[in-house]
Amino acid sequence: MMMVGIMVGESNHAPSSLSTHNPNSPQIPQNQQANFDLNTQYYQAVFDSVLNKLWHILCCNEPVTKPIKNRPYSVRCEKCFRQHSKLAHTPFRNMRIPQWMAGWLIEESYIRHPKIITAIEIHKKLGISYRSALNLKRRIQVMACYLMPAMKSLMNKELKEEFPAQYKLPKPGENVTDAIQNKNVVHADTLVLYSMRERYGRKRHKNKGLTSSIYRSEKLGGEQVGTLVHQITNGKWVLLDSIPNLTANTVGPIISSSLPRNTALFTDEGYKWLFRIYPNHRMVNHSKKSRDKRYRYAKDRWCQNGVHNQKSEALNNSIKTAFRSYTYIKPKFSKLYLNEWAFFRNLRHLDMDKLAEEMACHGEYARDGRGAVAGDAKMEGRRIKNDIIYSERCGDKEESVKPPLVCSINTK
Ligand SMILES: [Zn+2]
Repeated sequence: MMMVGIMVGESNHAPSSLSTHNPNSPQIPQNQQANFDLNTQYYQAVFDSVLNKLWHILCCNEPVTKPIKNRPYSVRCEKCFRQHSKLAHTPFRNMRIPQWMAGWLIEESYIRHPKIITAIEIHKKLGISYRSALNLKRRIQVMACYLMPAMKSLMNKELKEEFPAQYKLPKPGENVTDAIQNKNVVHADTLVLYSMRERYGRKRHKNKGLTSSIYRSEKLGGEQVGTLVHQITNGKWVLLDSIPNLTANTVGPIISSSLPRNTALFTDEGYKWLFRIYPNHRMVNHSKKSRDKRYRYAKDRWCQNGVHNQKSEALNNSIKTAFRSYTYIKPKFSKLYLNEWAFFRNLRHLDMDKLAEEMACHGEYARDGRGAVAGDAKMEGRRIKNDIIYSERCGDKEESVKPPLVCSINTK
């Protein structure tokens, strides 16, 4: 009787404090995963929904979604009972960690934005090796790069509606406040991530301004160390590019490929060559001198005649804060990381269904009955695999990553 009383007392207490140690209960392993179970079914559903939306498989003219028991890599057509590979020709091909982990990473990155999640964090949270964690992150980055053209074309449509052909801003020098009311003006700017400190042998005499702070000095080899980022934003979506310098030949094609000609575009003084192409381009002079000799700069140096660049400046801060978590990324991986960040920002404003529609419009993205991809996208699929293989060096920590072995896990 006494024993029972003690047992009941103990079991009542146990749930209220985690530190209570009962020698009779099975030992809880020190593994974090075992301590805090993730809802794997839920994350599997997240992953499946992303896959079904963006890379649906068509068979008998209907999307195939029916899973097969004990075959996580296959789906079956309900009409002709044909099996299809679930992951082939997607950025997740040959993935040999459980699929829910990818679902978890997608959802977590989405919720966390503008903060980022590093490979180390993934490794600790999921209990997988650092290499697998980094590979998983690379897959998400490749997915982001893959979807960026579709996102761009959605933005282009949005801008064409916002700024129709007859839309004109007042002449340069006149106040634009009335003309841009209820309009989502596009701002563009550049920023430097991981700049060289001045004393660290930067290439001061060859390049000027921002560009100089991303290269080492000629004496030390002159290689690129920092990342120069070009950003275009309307306050909702954002486009990021990694660029080698700030010349018109580098920045011009980026802007002309992403913005329609009639867009109202506000920048700082670094884009003097742009007015020839974009009639609605206005600049704000950040170093405008004050007429009063007591002050160095004018009061209206941040906003002149309603033209300002604050959307970009705000975003600069967001990006810099986010990328500080990585400590350092190599310039050669900068595009991947930037696209990943931009992807999750854009996902908040662009509908995933619309994105899928846009991809389907292009046609080349949809997978046909055999799981193969039509035309160019087949090459894209191969390229994705190569991208992962050649990403031997990771960005956020210097450690080599073995290319994934080509295995036949999902071919049959
Ligand atoms: Zn079928």
